[in-house]
Amino acid sequence: MSLLRSRTALSPLRRRVGAAAAALPAVDDIVAVTRPEAPLVCVRPEAVTAAARDFVAGFPGEVLYAVKCNPEPAVLRALWAGGVRHFDCASAAEVALVRRMFPRAAIHFMHPVKSRGAIREAWATHGVRDFVLDHADELTKIREETGAGAAEGLGLFVRLALPAGGPGNGVMYDLSGKFGADVEETAALLRAARPHAARLGVSFHVGSQCMDPLAWRRALQLVGEAVALAGVTVEVVDVGGGFPVSYPGMEPPPQGAFFAEIESAFEALALPGAVLWAEPGRALVAAGGSVVVQVQLRRGDALYLNDGVYGCLSDMGMPGGAPGFRFPVRLIRPDADVSEEIRDFVFFGPTCDSADRMRGPFPLPADAREGDWIEIAQLGAYGACLRTAFNGFDGTRLVEVRGEARGRVAEAVPV
Ligand SMILES: *Cc1c(COP(=O)(O)O)cnc(C)c1O
Repeated sequence: MSLLRSRTALSPLRRRVGAAAAALPAVDDIVAVTRPEAPLVCVRPEAVTAAARDFVAGFPGEVLYAVKCNPEPAVLRALWAGGVRHFDCASAAEVALVRRMFPRAAIHFMHPVKSRGAIREAWATHGVRDFVLDHADELTKIREETGAGAAEGLGLFVRLALPAGGPGNGVMYDLSGKFGADVEETAALLRAARPHAARLGVSFHVGSQCMDPLAWRRALQLVGEAVALAGVTVEVVDVGGGFPVSYPGMEPPPQGAFFAEIESAFEALALPGAVLWAEPGRALVAAGGSVVVQVQLRRGDALYLNDGVYGCLSDMGMPGGAPGFRFPVRLIRPDADVSEEIRDFVFFGPTCDSADRMRGPFPLPADAREGDWIEIAQLGAYGACLRTAFNGFDGTRLVEVRGEARGRVAEAVPV
């Protein structure tokens, strides 16, 4: 993911004028009518809204959406409809986007390393009050650029580093190497920040797509150690993102198991007056997006597609040849029957880079051929927002569609 630049909104295939969800087209109809030769990102507002509603209802605290995961306005609107009112932003552009769309949203600047200009703009122009830090110099920067302290409502959050994660420890993306202070540093930063903060918090991130609820319990125990060592009160414990979704071959425990573990580990800390926050990204939007790609050539069991790892599919093929995630796939051939026999395929993307390869395996009808479309589901998280214009492949469009992709696609391709 880190290799790729991210951009914000895709141009819509059609402008939707306040259409009700039920009036949105189905993916197969859009494909049959428009026969898209460029990748087509399909947003399912109903699925995003449902995931948001479930998370907000189930999580024992405040829910902040991590905007980087999918900043499409159609997605943000669907999250708002599902009850999300807090947004975790990491850049001035994300802050401005959310403020433009939702004048009443609560925006939190949760990137531990910010430019001075971004801090100033967030504070003065967009009313952001909460800032995260993991170093004393960042605390100085925040204080200098906001000119504020406890009396002005400044919120300060210290990001705690967790011991190395990685796939062996139940997470697919380990974030521990880049951000966070260790327990002693966190305690020192909490003490340093306390006099300047109207609201003081500790945050962490267990790593994305974390399959093990106990990872949050272990992290919360470290939060307890840091707070005890600091000897100060905190108002917020922010358990970050990382909540997993299902992919083929990867079925996490139900979301309620994560919430129950977090609630009981938090209660065990006995921090009077403190509340819980979470910053989910993937869990709110993965099921709400898919990408329809077209087969440009078949060579044996390899399908050459019009999108790849430099486009919306970067999570399907990881740098260095790691296997990447597998995603549910489904063949769409509007005007002819498809073979009932299923065969495993590998995919190649459109760029000239030999790393533009997705190993899969992807089970599809054995007669998959040039001109067919493939819908790749569960791609609402870290999909289109990671695309680049490398090699001139930059034609991706977006359409809002009805229904939930997950059930239908999973039925078509049992895993
Ligand atoms: C990316 C990120 C998130 C969201 O992570 P998911 O794994 O998508 O839930 C939350 N908080 C921070 C600080 C992040 O960087």
